[in-house]
Amino acid sequence: MNKIDALIIGAGPTGLFTAHQLKLIGLNCEIVDNLEKIGGQCIELYPDKPIYDIPAIPECTGEELTNNLINQLKPFNIKFYLGERVEEVKKEKDNWLVKTNKGNSFLTPNVIIAGGVGSFEPRKFSIKECEKFENKSLFYSITDKKIFKGKIVSIFGGGDSALDWAVELSKDCKVNLIHRRDEFRGAKTTVDKVHELAKEGKINLYTKYQMTAVSGLEKLESIDIKHDNEEIKNLKTNYVLGFFGLIMQLGPIASWGLNIDKKKIEVDTEKFETNQKGIYAVGDICNYPGKLKLILSGFHEGALAARACFKLARPNEKYRFEFTTSSKTIKDRLGIKGD
Ligand SMILES: Cc1cc2nc3c(=O)[nH]c(=O)nc-3n(C[C@H](O)[C@H](O)[C@H](O)COP(=O)(O)OP(=O)(O)OC[C@H]3O[C@@H](n4cnc5c(N)ncnc54)[C@H](O)[C@@H]3O)c2cc1C
Repeated sequence: MNKIDALIIGAGPTGLFTAHQLKLIGLNCEIVDNLEKIGGQCIELYPDKPIYDIPAIPECTGEELTNNLINQLKPFNIKFYLGERVEEVKKEKDNWLVKTNKGNSFLTPNVIIAGGVGSFEPRKFSIKECEKFENKSLFYSITDKKIFKGKIVSIFGGGDSALDWAVELSKDCKVNLIHRRDEFRGAKTTVDKVHELAKEGKINLYTKYQMTAVSGLEKLESIDIKHDNEEIKNLKTNYVLGFFGLIMQLGPIASWGLNIDKKKIEVDTEKFETNQKGIYAVGDICNYPGKLKLILSGFHEGALAARACFKLARPNEKYRFEFTTSSKTIKDRLGIKGD
């Protein structure tokens, strides 16, 4: 059993930066994530997509942001438990006893839940034959956009992911964008851009259509799409991408006695503590008046939750606020020599 100052559940951007904040103030922590990779949504859902609203980084992809966060943690040698799901959180005197599905357990006064949308699964096509092509020529997320270069890609969906990828891939692929309605749900600027590209012939738009069949032997060769008026079109295609959103499942988190409303954990905005002392929720999974589901909000929430952890981890010491620029102690923790 590991006795630690804080356990972080979730290695998305929020969990990673929270670990940095804990280590800066001298607390030790470990991180568990049920995905095999570090990075949460940024790495699982949009590693190649550019992000434009991280303070002081004009543009970086989901993967670059993750790598930068990992680099920032390098001086601290943090232990990660990947491919492991936290199943149980139980009170044990002044500590929490936390257990994973792989038999690891942790004893800690502080548990920080940075679980994002919980365990997430993409919503899939209902056609049975799609399974045969899954992760070969039919995908629900993109990990390497280079494989689509010069190919015909049929994108399904009407939200941000479908529209963003249609715009991005139209630069060097033939793109069919297929949606079951006339209206798109994405950001207005992206919807306008899609219509502009459709007018220029760079995206083929099919609205009020849904997929009814996929054909091909080893590789996908064509799909059938059916209009609301029953008309059927056969489209040649090399790849199919389905962006129908995620089925969000809180999973075990729902049974830890926390105040949960609409799959979000209620917290205060001073410590980001839940209704259970020593359990905090930060990032996409927490809710409070004015909550913005942005990466930068998760960073702020993690910084405050980390300070709150100090009190329970070091009950006989007083937390002293210091700037990283001027604190000798912090520089020592970062392994930086000199002033
Ligand atoms: C397509 C897309 C584009 C986006 N673009 C932007 C943007 O431009 N700017 C921006 O600020 N935000 C953007 N976002 C939102 C941003 O990605 C999220 O706000 C951010 O990822 C939240 O980080 P997080 O660490 O709180 O959660 P997540 O990134 O969701 O990470 C949570 C992690 O917790 C793990 N987990 C959950 N339950 C358990 C458990 N029981 N045990 C172990 N592990 C568990 C999950 O596996 C996951 O890895 C975008 C999101 C999407 C989908």
